[in-house]
Amino acid sequence: MIDVLVAGGGPAGLATAINAALAGMEAVVVEPRPGPVDKACGEGLMPTGAAALADLGVAVPDGRPFRGIRYVDGPQRVQAEFRDGPGLGVRRTALHTALAHRARDLGIRVVPGRVDAVHAAGEGVRAHVTGGPDLSAPELCAPELCGPELGRPELGGSALYGPELPGPELCGREFGARWLVAADGLHSPIRARLGLDLASRGPRRYGLRRHYRIAPWTDFVEVHWAPGGEAYVTPVGDDLVGVAVLSSERRTYDEHLARFPDLLARLDGPPATPVRGAGPLRQRVRRRVAGRILLVGDAAGYVDALTGEGISLALLSARALVGCLMVGRPEEYENAWRRLSWRSRLLTAALVRARRHPPAARMIVPAARRLPAVFGAAVRSLA
Ligand SMILES: Cc1cc2nc3c(=O)[nH]c(=O)nc-3n(C[C@H](O)[C@H](O)[C@H](O)COP(=O)(O)OP(=O)(O)OC[C@H]3O[C@@H](n4cnc5c(N)ncnc54)[C@H](O)[C@@H]3O)c2cc1C
Repeated sequence: MIDVLVAGGGPAGLATAINAALAGMEAVVVEPRPGPVDKACGEGLMPTGAAALADLGVAVPDGRPFRGIRYVDGPQRVQAEFRDGPGLGVRRTALHTALAHRARDLGIRVVPGRVDAVHAAGEGVRAHVTGGPDLSAPELCAPELCGPELGRPELGGSALYGPELPGPELCGREFGARWLVAADGLHSPIRARLGLDLASRGPRRYGLRRHYRIAPWTDFVEVHWAPGGEAYVTPVGDDLVGVAVLSSERRTYDEHLARFPDLLARLDGPPATPVRGAGPLRQRVRRRVAGRILLVGDAAGYVDALTGEGISLALLSARALVGCLMVGRPEEYENAWRRLSWRSRLLTAALVRARRHPPAARMIVPAARRLPAVFGAAVRSLA
């Protein structure tokens, strides 16, 4: 029996497996998409997330440091710097490669496929794995969100995991594990199957992102505000900038971007990647521990991408989760997750709530300008 079977090889799943391996446990990851995995993301890794990667022994992925957050609303702007070192703007493919290499070096098996049915079995869990590598990944880029530019993950990449790892012939099999960790993303099929989803209130928000081949004009992550949506800009390389738009309105990426004329004027290079989308973003979850099954990363619940700390939280809660398994008290993970995430849940929910009311939304940047100490404290508490 494996110690920890991890469903999902995103940052949360790979970090869980790496933590488990470092603690002397055998971990196996099941992931349907061949690496390096790309995803709709603002790609700003907060300083705590960058530190958590280093703690895992993950080599610093190629990217571009940023030293704080800047809010921009027309001519008004306000910014705050992090106190304890920079964050890292990093392409998801680079982040995935760095995590996958560390996992490979620790001997962690990554099985191509999808965890399907899961059920309790004595002192463990049994999980059914179906399919081999999935090259269409429809749930990550719905055509109605991404339009004709629908991105398809690149072929190949299995070399990332090394030749010694099992191929698709291992799929369609049952795995027995002492614990199963669901790290299967925002719309976690495992969470749904366990009946842990809760209905979400309020408008549904979506995120779309694309990259531009231009030199970054700033070493801050910029959040641009406009009626009906936000655009946030992350420098991810010396000649590459990512722009993610967030909104509750279903429009194409270009229609969203047209609301930010000043930003649009800066994006004078051709797009470097296709549009990728994700949503609805808000996911409420009943609880994060169900017997021997634990939820981590976006599968554990998500408020919104507006404050950009999803990856950091995933890395930190993966560490907490494995800590709870190590001492044989998985049930303590629920409180550990709440402690790690309460600040970001509170601040993000407050911002999204303010966003819903146009008069309040118009006040966000002016208020932050008038109260720079409060803005700085908020930025640093998310960092
Ligand atoms: C528009 C947008 C912008 C964002 N910006 C930022 C940002 O700037 N900074 C930041 O820190 N966070 C940001 N986030 C959030 C961040 O992307 C997530 O928090 C992060 O990806 C969570 O990682 P994860 O491993 O939980 O999920 P994912 O990265 O989604 O990985 C889940 C994996 O599970 C796999 N999977 C699905 N079903 C199964 C199954 N049945 N069996 C096995 N595997 C399965 C999927 O293929 C996938 O690879 C943003 C999100 C969005 C949508």
